[in-house]
Amino acid sequence: MNLHHLTIADMRTRLDSGEVSSLVLTEAVLTQIKSQDGQVGAYLHVDSDGALRQAAAADARIAAGERTPMLGIPLGIKDVLSTQGLPTTCASKVLEGYIPPYDATAVARLKAAGGVILGKLNMDEFAMGSSTENSAYQLTRNPWNHDCVPGGSSGGSAAAVAAGMAAGTLGTDTGGSIRQPAALCGITGLKPTYGRVSRYGAVAFASSLDQIGPMTWTARDAAMMLQVIAGQDERDATSAPLAVPDYLAALGGNLKGVRIGIPRELFVEGIQKETDQAVRAAIDVLKQMGAVIKEISLPHSGYALPVYYIVATAEASSNLARFDGVRYGHRSAGDSYREQLDATRGDLFGPEVRRRIMLGTYALSAGYYDAYYKRAQQVRTLIRQDFTAAFADVDIIAAPTSPNVAFKFGDNTDDPVAMYLQDVCTLPVSLAGLPGISVPCGFDSGLPIGLQLIGPAFSEAELLRVSDAYQSQTDWHMRRPQ
Ligand code: GLN
Repeated sequence: MNLHHLTIADMRTRLDSGEVSSLVLTEAVLTQIKSQDGQVGAYLHVDSDGALRQAAAADARIAAGERTPMLGIPLGIKDVLSTQGLPTTCASKVLEGYIPPYDATAVARLKAAGGVILGKLNMDEFAMGSSTENSAYQLTRNPWNHDCVPGGSSGGSAAAVAAGMAAGTLGTDTGGSIRQPAALCGITGLKPTYGRVSRYGAVAFASSLDQIGPMTWTARDAAMMLQVIAGQDERDATSAPLAVPDYLAALGGNLKGVRIGIPRELFVEGIQKETDQAVRAAIDVLKQMGAVIKEISLPHSGYALPVYYIVATAEASSNLARFDGVRYGHRSAGDSYREQLDATRGDLFGPEVRRRIMLGTYALSAGYYDAYYKRAQQVRTLIRQDFTAAFADVDIIAAPTSPNVAFKFGDNTDDPVAMYLQDVCTLPVSLAGLPGISVPCGFDSGLPIGLQLIGPAFSEAELLRVSDAYQSQTDWHMRRPQ
């Protein structure tokens, strides 16, 4: 396999044995970016000089005998995460030219661990979307088929890994934005439990839902990245005061007696036949490995979509109020503060972001608050309770990540609800704050399919262990696009 398509674990072995240097790996990945990204469009900003400097520094640490998981590994960062000295736009015109003076905690931890930061990755504007078509700057193409979307909102993060333009990337997931693009690009993507990874420095979309997580080829690679970014942070009061387990040490063992629940509601109406079949075949593999399969029900999951589009838009309308053209990024001219504010926000937010701000502002307005926002919060509790009840009987839940494989550009852009429906399988998990992982489990017409595994809060070690066991029996995660 070409150097740029190696897994993080393979790179680690070769780096530690001295077979390759981080400089050679980083150069190989930068060369791949040069030759491929003109077509794929995953990166909004590439920092070649910075990456080569960091690679040389990592090589010095390796030569001095340091042996840690991320040391010298070339990585990409979703453009919603603040990076000191590198542009951070959230793929929005409103943040054009903004260069943060600090790193997000997850980025700072990767850097401290010796990760090599290649650049910033395209996304739907402010992480609102499922196809990356809402980026204000460029399209990102699915590396398996350039006529198709990579999913979203972390489409650049998914496409970069799939195209060999980063060994691993950080994405964010509010309603599915790590898992769905991972599924559509044939890689592994983990959304950790709410509170597992500090959100400090992640530009907020919906603060009660947002989580940062790894996007990689394998579950083992995801474990290596999560190890570094997880853990409490005094700068994020919602980060959990819990010890971080040794995720790599948790891998291995067999699946005998692991109880896996199959929720009939997440095999949604309208799911593509090939997706349904591939996910069921994957569950069969788990069964053959000793897992005990049980039918379960998540009766309120059908309400997840309306609940999410009230809660997330309400939080977004409040969070995005800070983009007033005064403190960050771009400003449109106006004679008064009011005119300047209206011009900046009217000119520079894209249509989907404006739609969400309007929906959220409406849901929170006097007279409607009880009917919409309060009701949505109540139903959110019911959705969470469904999972609590299910996890009394099963250890893990298995479902599709997305009801379909990657679709063509433009297919869902005229109908916002059709686009929102892309997330029906991932939204309930987000509303419940639970961890979920997508692992490759098949192909339809050359396009990847994802299996979603969901666990109780802070069960990342077990999710990664089951995913790794599945990947030890299958080779979907070893395929690479041509
Ligand atoms: N696609 C969903 C949305 O548009 C989820 C996005 C996300 O997880 N950031 O809101």
